[in-house]
Amino acid sequence: MNTDPHQPIYLDHHATTPVDPRVLAAMLPYFTEHFGNPTSTTHQYGWAAEAAVTNARATIAAAIGASPEEIVFTSGATEANNLALKGIAEAYFAKGQHIITLQTEHNAILDPCQYLETLGFTVTYLPVNPDGLVDLERLTNAIRTDTILVSIMAANNEIGVLQSLAEIGNICRAREVLFHTDAAQAIGKIHLDVNRLNIDLMSLTAHKVYGPKGIGALYVRRRNPRVKISPQLHGGGHEQGMRSGTLYPPQIVGFAKAVEIALIDIDLNTSKLVALRDRLWLQLSQIEGIYLNGHPTQRLAGNLNISVAGVDGNALLLGLRPIVALSSGAACSSAKIAPSHVLQAIDRSPSLAHAALRFGIGHNNTVDEIDRVATATIETIQSLRKLALRL
Ligand SMILES: *Cc1c(COP(=O)(O)O)cnc(C)c1O
Repeated sequence: MNTDPHQPIYLDHHATTPVDPRVLAAMLPYFTEHFGNPTSTTHQYGWAAEAAVTNARATIAAAIGASPEEIVFTSGATEANNLALKGIAEAYFAKGQHIITLQTEHNAILDPCQYLETLGFTVTYLPVNPDGLVDLERLTNAIRTDTILVSIMAANNEIGVLQSLAEIGNICRAREVLFHTDAAQAIGKIHLDVNRLNIDLMSLTAHKVYGPKGIGALYVRRRNPRVKISPQLHGGGHEQGMRSGTLYPPQIVGFAKAVEIALIDIDLNTSKLVALRDRLWLQLSQIEGIYLNGHPTQRLAGNLNISVAGVDGNALLLGLRPIVALSSGAACSSAKIAPSHVLQAIDRSPSLAHAALRFGIGHNNTVDEIDRVATATIETIQSLRKLALRL
């Protein structure tokens, strides 16, 4: 993808992805030509924008087996997660004040949960197995009579682990507890069907799947059961009162186009990414003291997360910086010195949690790029280890 040898190879697709040129082309007319407000019902400028939003809503709903009226557009998955957690907490307050989530969730789940604790809610942060998967028996046992919501992510943004959504959905449905999933990393990468999986609320975002930043959605189930959420943004009553604010047609159109493209080739893309990922791991695993983080197969196709023994994590990232753009964990917390909370939750020692590399492969990456990255990573690790021996 990257023909400029002076630019590092982009392997940080869990942080964000480039906008697909077909997505951009679909968006452009809605900035200047069809610029209307989709809620202006008195003229054709509004109608054109409304038609585009209606189509996009139908595409996104169909992608997850939902109905269009169950899609609430938001500014992304962070807002969708906040709306789900706070919206459910407020609406179901009388039923109970207990929420269950995972220690390995994204901060856009953990931080709202901590906020809800300050309001008097109780949150159980379930540990995960060393492979990153939640223990289903532990989940079952954690559900109480006052539990109103289980929030468990579909795909982890650091270690790529795919939670067993169908089993979790069954458990929640049997106990009549609402099930929310943060599917920011999963949409367009794995098959998602809210009815088959018994999902009641689902957070989505466009920019991890070659769509624009600043747009996402919350799926809110309307029947069996009908889920109520309290709005967190009040105003013009958009999105059936669940999220006020003028809709943003270019972003919404781009979001739908990105999802549509991803689904056409989902299985082909998955097998291509698995081949690149396995090729990278095959080379890296040749050298000693390299550990794979997360489940070996129940993970996102483009994700490889490794810990490296005997090197300083920062020195490793610094050494690789000119060659490959990647991170040691979540983009939003990379600035923090503390090792990743996800790697700590899967029982990695502090030094192994610190010396971690998250490779996020995208469908524009080539075999040649993967080989260059593998060679550079091995060379950097070996020279850092030699240096450490000399000190
Ligand atoms: C990226 C990400 C988010 C945040 O999504 P935004 O649309 O950037 O707000 C939330 N959860 C997970 C798992 C993510 O990977």
